[in-house]
Amino acid sequence: MDNGLIEQIKHRLPITEVLSTYITLEPSGTQFKARCPFHNEKTASFSVSPERGLYYCFGCGAKGDVINFVQQFEGLDFKGTLKVLADRAGIVMTTQNTKVEPTDSVFAAMEAATKKYQDVLKHAPDALQYLFKRGLTQESIDQFRIGYAPIEWRTLAGGLDETSAGYYERAGLIKKTEKGYYDRFRGRIIFPMMDGSGRVVAFSGRIFPEVTKDGEQSPKYLNSPETEIFHKSRVLFGFDKAKGPIKKHNFAILVEGQMDLVLSHQAGFKNTIATSGTAVSESVVGDPSAHLSVLARLTPNIFLAFDGDAAGQKALERAALVALSLGMNPKVVALPEGMDPADFFSGRSDSVGAERSEAWKELLKNSEHFILHTLHAIQKTVTSAHQLKLALRTRLFPFLARVSSAVERQVYLNTIAAESSIGIKEVTDEFNGFMATATVPAPTGTISGITKQALPISHTERFIALSELFPGELMAHHMETLSTFRFDDRSIMLTPLTDEQRERVLAAVEKEYALFSVEQREEVMGELVQTIIAQFLEQLRFEYAMKMNEAKQQRDEEMELHYLALLQKLHQRRHGS
Ligand SMILES: [Zn+2]
Repeated sequence: MDNGLIEQIKHRLPITEVLSTYITLEPSGTQFKARCPFHNEKTASFSVSPERGLYYCFGCGAKGDVINFVQQFEGLDFKGTLKVLADRAGIVMTTQNTKVEPTDSVFAAMEAATKKYQDVLKHAPDALQYLFKRGLTQESIDQFRIGYAPIEWRTLAGGLDETSAGYYERAGLIKKTEKGYYDRFRGRIIFPMMDGSGRVVAFSGRIFPEVTKDGEQSPKYLNSPETEIFHKSRVLFGFDKAKGPIKKHNFAILVEGQMDLVLSHQAGFKNTIATSGTAVSESVVGDPSAHLSVLARLTPNIFLAFDGDAAGQKALERAALVALSLGMNPKVVALPEGMDPADFFSGRSDSVGAERSEAWKELLKNSEHFILHTLHAIQKTVTSAHQLKLALRTRLFPFLARVSSAVERQVYLNTIAAESSIGIKEVTDEFNGFMATATVPAPTGTISGITKQALPISHTERFIALSELFPGELMAHHMETLSTFRFDDRSIMLTPLTDEQRERVLAAVEKEYALFSVEQREEVMGELVQTIIAQFLEQLRFEYAMKMNEAKQQRDEEMELHYLALLQKLHQRRHGS
């Protein structure tokens, strides 16, 4: 049963090994630390114990074992999570070691249909020829499991018994009429979409040949409907293959179409994913399992390589809005006029292919942040300060409003001022005026709501709560360490809990720590103290950097040098020299 498999997985896969494919772990005593993937933070509050096989976050309270982690991180169902880990551990999932789930037969129908269409493509020379002409290799066709649905009504539907037909219908593969079942996909090249564990959950079908038998033009692309195993907002085409490379390179390239995706991978850009057939809309922002939320946990850096036409621009803006709301840095890849990434890579011989890859790297290198890209686009069309302000309000501020970090917003405002004809005070006033009148939803602040507390418990609140709950000598020592800590003339604020805080914090913290032994509690307390100090220094760094920037803008050289010296001192303090 499930238990056997779970024990085997845990036995074969050390928690640190699995987690380090998703996040960057730093050793810290007997533990490991990281920036938490489940809430937005600059300091490392996330702690992993290799010995206990558990993780715990001081910032948001996320905790669990290796399976909980992969499930939370990837937004997969339980069985998909087990598949990711079993594949990795080299364990075969069978009906003996896994529980039967109600969706198993629907997944099986998708898998059978994928195999069928792959097989049909082998005997469809025209479709194959088309794919080769677009520049795809046989290797890519096999790797992405591309297939062909012929212009027939019953390639799948023929020969199914009533029970199987039910599963195929639930998978969105066939439709029912009074005369029986018929296939949804006909005369189309089939691109299977996989979830994070590599299971096929949907198809995107490109019409081929262009005109159907009865001479009627059908839509160029047809996608599977939403089903119990396919949620449009949760699947990115290519993600199962791209997630490792995305983590490795610390950036992702988002393209629109299947051809763009496959040709990018073929050219060696394996950290590419595609929106094709999936939904990038604002509704995904609050959903921790939504595709871009999952992506945001892997990397904050996303390059948007969309078509230059009107539809592509709309899609670009939507993706940028969501990315900014999730705390990511969206950059815009400026493709040559009228080209999409597929055109960029397709139909080239090997030597030219290498040149194209270099050119693509160059394009990525020259990509501008979305906010700057928009600013520069605006500057090309306006001729007066008045027009500029108007354009900022309508075309740029709605995006800037989505940046949740006030510090980051200020950096962008500074940049706008530095690059345009209006000063920082005026830009800031304009933006504040916009915020006061606009009806934009508040930024979410976290990239995934594991715990949807109205107000998260801060590190210092947690510390003070713990010192009340578990007083003693060690606590007094920690309290001393924190209250005497100084940098410049600044110290860490440790004020007693207010009634409001008491109500919100005490019970929650007591519950969290109830499971720990005294030793474990002392161990995590020591880490919490270090985390509070690190966070305090990080806040100072931000503050000094901002003030230095301000001084620079006002050409106050003395002030600028003052903060520069403080920053250098701070750096030494943080890196222990
Ligand atoms: Zn957290």
